[in-house]
Parts: sequence; structure tokens; C-alpha cells
Amino acid sequence: MSSATDRGLPRCPFCGLEVLGLNGQDGLLDTYVLTGDDREVLEQGIFGECHVRCLLDSRWGSLWASRWLGNFSAVRGWLVAAEADGLAVLRNPRLPEAVVIRDDGWMTLVGDHALARRDGDLVPVRHEINLPLHDHPEVARAISTDLAAGRSHPIMDLVDALRLGDRLLSRQALAAGALRPSDIAVARDDHVTATAEYSKWIPGEAMRLLLSARPT
Ligand SMILES: [Zn+2]
Repeated sequence: MSSATDRGLPRCPFCGLEVLGLNGQDGLLDTYVLTGDDREVLEQGIFGECHVRCLLDSRWGSLWASRWLGNFSAVRGWLVAAEADGLAVLRNPRLPEAVVIRDDGWMTLVGDHALARRDGDLVPVRHEINLPLHDHPEVARAISTDLAAGRSHPIMDLVDALRLGDRLLSRQALAAGALRPSDIAVARDDHVTATAEYSKWIPGEAMRLLLSARPT
């Protein structure tokens, strides 16, 4: 994600551990959605990249859920397409995509094309990933070696090496996930850029609501 810098991976404001920026496992608490009443959030430092599991375990999830709902509807003009049991689906009126927000702070944005390629409750994800790994030279070296040889590298190896396994929302979603060489792949001893391919887990009730809210 964007705030990953050469200073190293961002750290979760709740647990202090590193955040890889994996869609469905990690989230971005972006302060631009906050309102004037949210000084305490800033004072307590509850913003930036975090593990979704940590947000859900905290007392801050419902506040962020309500701010996202307000931002997507009032600021971005997305339209509420379905609501049920603490879940709301809002659709982008200009693009084929939707966001589903649960009132405890879980949320995800998903395009209709990815949704059509789902496997049960798992939706495929693919993006470039930028990992400043200065603090983990052996991990960076292992990934670089694989990518340089044209091989993929299991994402779970990276997660386990950084001891982030118990911060995941769904281990299954990453089970077959891999870092792959890409055209812009940069692999050095301290910094890895690659293509990440894995899945994200969408809970059953949220998946059903998303599917029901698709245009026919
Ligand atoms: Zn955390």
C-alpha cells in the first residue's frame, strides 16, 4: 500500500506488528473519512494501515464503519443497493463495483468481474505489491531468489516468516497465494516488488447480499 516506504513496512496501530497490505486481511484507516467529532481517533493514533482482525477486536470498528458508510454515500455518491443484518452494500454508479460495509468495521470493495470469478466465498485478487524488507534481509533474499529464477514464492511463507499468521482473518484465502515475477519486478536484498495473486474471503452473508445487489 501507499504508505509503505523505505523506512520499512507500516505497523498496525493496534498490535504494533507489521502490515503487508493484503486485500481482505489488511485495511487502511484513512483519516480523510473522519469528521470534526473524531479528535479522539487522532489523539489515540487509531489510523493508517492495520490488520482487519485487530480492528474487529478493538472498540474502534463501529466508528470506522460508520465513517466509511458516510464517505461512500455522501461524499462519493455511491448508492445503497442492499441492507441486512448490520451489512450495507453500496454500488459505484459509474463503475461495475460495490463496497460492502459491516457495522463492526469489516468492509471490502469488490468489482463485478472478480465476483463472477469467485470460488465459494473466495474472490480472486491480483495486484502489484511493494515490500520494504530492510528488517528481514533473509526473507527478502528468499523471495528475490525465487523471483530471479522465474519461480513464484508462497505468500504464506512471507506471512509466517514475519509471524503474522494469527493476525489473519482467513488463512485459507492465502493458502494458494503467491508472489510472482512481474514486468516491473524489483527484487533486492532489502526490497521486493512483485505481482501478488491470492484470494480474499467474503463471509457468506456478505457474499449473498453482494450478489443480490448486482444489476440484472
Ligand atoms: Zn494488528
